[in-house]
Amino acid sequence: MKELGLNAMEIEFVRGVKMEPKLAEEVGRIAKELGVSLSVHSPYYINLNSQKKQIIEASKKMIFDSADRAERMGAGAVAIHSAYYSGFSPEQTFEKTKEGLSEVLDKMKSAGIKNVKLGIETMGRSSQFGSLEECIRLAKEIGVIPYIDWSHLFVRGKGTIDYEKIFDALEQLKLKHIYSHFQNVQKNKKGEYVDVHVPLDHSPSFEEFAKVLLKRKVDITIICESPILEQDSLKQKKILEKFGYKF
Ligand SMILES: [Zn+2]
Repeated sequence: MKELGLNAMEIEFVRGVKMEPKLAEEVGRIAKELGVSLSVHSPYYINLNSQKKQIIEASKKMIFDSADRAERMGAGAVAIHSAYYSGFSPEQTFEKTKEGLSEVLDKMKSAGIKNVKLGIETMGRSSQFGSLEECIRLAKEIGVIPYIDWSHLFVRGKGTIDYEKIFDALEQLKLKHIYSHFQNVQKNKKGEYVDVHVPLDHSPSFEEFAKVLLKRKVDITIICESPILEQDSLKQKKILEKFGYKF
């Protein structure tokens, strides 16, 4: 990342938390030395609202382990795909997810994990828990933070997104820093945007996003999850520089 001219990286535990604690500490030391800030993405298999108790238990462990490694490496936040509605109402899903996250937060507290934040990711598919409102409400009630995936919100908004409105909504949380993902998504045969990541083009437009960021002077981390991670990250950096941001 440093050699490429980038200054943030997300450590992907999306297929399981397989990094030993000691290695996480070493990763943290090197990142600090190089001035690369870190975040962590927890496994895709998490579902705190599963019909199966053992999946909920495994989900809590995956979140805790992600938070443990993140804390050891000095990462600021853990991105979490927290739950599916799994046949329950949004309200029931909210309560169940809140319960699971609260247990993880208690366990983190007992383990002395106090710096890293649990980031509840905004999700794109209608089967997935994680509208902006749900993430903000969880943040208000139990002290987690929303982890904003802009392209997921764009899909949830059926191909529309109002950045100003989202930042306005986030203001009530008084976040010191916003963690986020930005990439582009594709359309299906019916012409609807779906949560399939594609290289940066115009869906949604990074230029529009960059203008709002610079106007509002937002303190933010932008992780790119496109199929061509580094190239698109550098493209985003170039666009920000074109609009006057100095790295
Ligand atoms: Zn994600």
